[in-house]
Amino acid sequence: KYYEPYQVGFQSANSGGKIPLGLKRKSLRIVVTGGAGFVGSHLVDRLIARGDSVIVVDNFFTGRKENVMHHFKNPRFELIRHDVVEPLLLEVDQIYHLACPASPVHYKHNPVKTIKTNVVGTLNMLGLAKRVGARFLLTSTSEVYGDPLQHPQVETYWGNVNPIGVRSCYDEGKRTAETLTMDYHRGAGVQVRIARIFNTYGPRMCIDDGRVVSNFVAQALRKEPMTVYGDGKQTRSFQYVSDLVEGLMRLMEGEHVGPFNLGNPGEFTMLELAQVVQETIDPNARIEFRPNTEDDPHKRKPDITKAKNLLGWEPKISLRKGLPMMVSDFRQRVFGDHKEGGS
Ligand code: NAD
Ligand code: UDP
Ligand code: UDP
Repeated sequence: KYYEPYQVGFQSANSGGKIPLGLKRKSLRIVVTGGAGFVGSHLVDRLIARGDSVIVVDNFFTGRKENVMHHFKNPRFELIRHDVVEPLLLEVDQIYHLACPASPVHYKHNPVKTIKTNVVGTLNMLGLAKRVGARFLLTSTSEVYGDPLQHPQVETYWGNVNPIGVRSCYDEGKRTAETLTMDYHRGAGVQVRIARIFNTYGPRMCIDDGRVVSNFVAQALRKEPMTVYGDGKQTRSFQYVSDLVEGLMRLMEGEHVGPFNLGNPGEFTMLELAQVVQETIDPNARIEFRPNTEDDPHKRKPDITKAKNLLGWEPKISLRKGLPMMVSDFRQRVFGDHKEGGS
């Protein structure tokens, strides 16, 4: 059964479930699917640091052992190579369900696999949550808003998504995952939480994953031109990974189902982003224009009022502050000084 949550290392927005200072709470058993990936591995670090036991379930499609290797000797850490499309039996208190490729290049690589991961994988993890009475958190995405006709995006907006496009395996997959999550909540009483994550960057992103921040940073470091797709006037809002992890943990421990937008409202055009990368890495870094990809959303910016009010959460790290922390990790990896996983 689910243990009453108790906040360690961060302040809860709610007083419910808190244990008075000085009393020890029971350590939780937590599954992180996709825990060897970029966001998952940072989440695992925080959960281990606050004293919980963590089981990472990952098929290593885009994740890497290096991201979690620093926990291998910790008896509270386990790593299972497993594809969430297959059923899985475990006994746990909480499930953070992150398994799914997040970069457009990766999720378009095998679209049928992407939608299976989102639909069958999420179904399996909800089945697991139901069987053991665990609390389940889904990492959904701002892409459920598609190419939004409302700006900024509020959680009540239903989105503008192409159901038959090249991004649909991801967008519609995540939309179905949200549907499944709510149906298990309503139909089977599973405790669920839904986060809609906006573009996130930071150390341990795959260097060549095709996402814009990792591309620009790696290109500028290698003295290659930064590839701006289209006219570069499309916008995104970039969130530093530690802010996201804080939001995910508050959401899991809090009492609200969501969905909650978790993102940094600071909005940048891709040309402005290229400029920040120039300021951070190399003022002489060049820009090269490339044709844009199909169905690229024109703009994206979260309205985070709901998360501020109900979770007491807001991002703390601006792009200009977060980018240098990512750059030092990328510098080490691009130039072969392998100290991965420790940042
Ligand atoms: P990532 O690609 O670094 O991590 C995903 C992890 O899931 C990888 O370790 C991968 O190996 C694993 N995985 C993929 N398919 C799997 C399967 N079938 N079975 C088991 N493991 C599998 O991506 P990320 O940026 O860390 O994203 C984590 C989650 O957050 C994803 O669900 C993603 O959709 C969501 N999200 C991320 C962002 C972002 O900007 N990073 C934005 C919105 C949503
Ligand atoms: N499932 C799982 N682990 C569990 C329990 C269920 O992987 O501990 C899978 C199960 O194989 C099924 C899915 O989750 O495919 C949904 O399970 P549920 O019990 O909700 O539905 P049913 O098995 O009745 O279709
Ligand atoms: N983009 C770009 N150059 C690149 C990679 C991406 O200009 O090398 C653009 C892309 O067209 C999109 C934005 O950056 O408008 C964000 O793309 P990303 O793949 O990072 O995330 P998503 O489209 O999922 O928000």
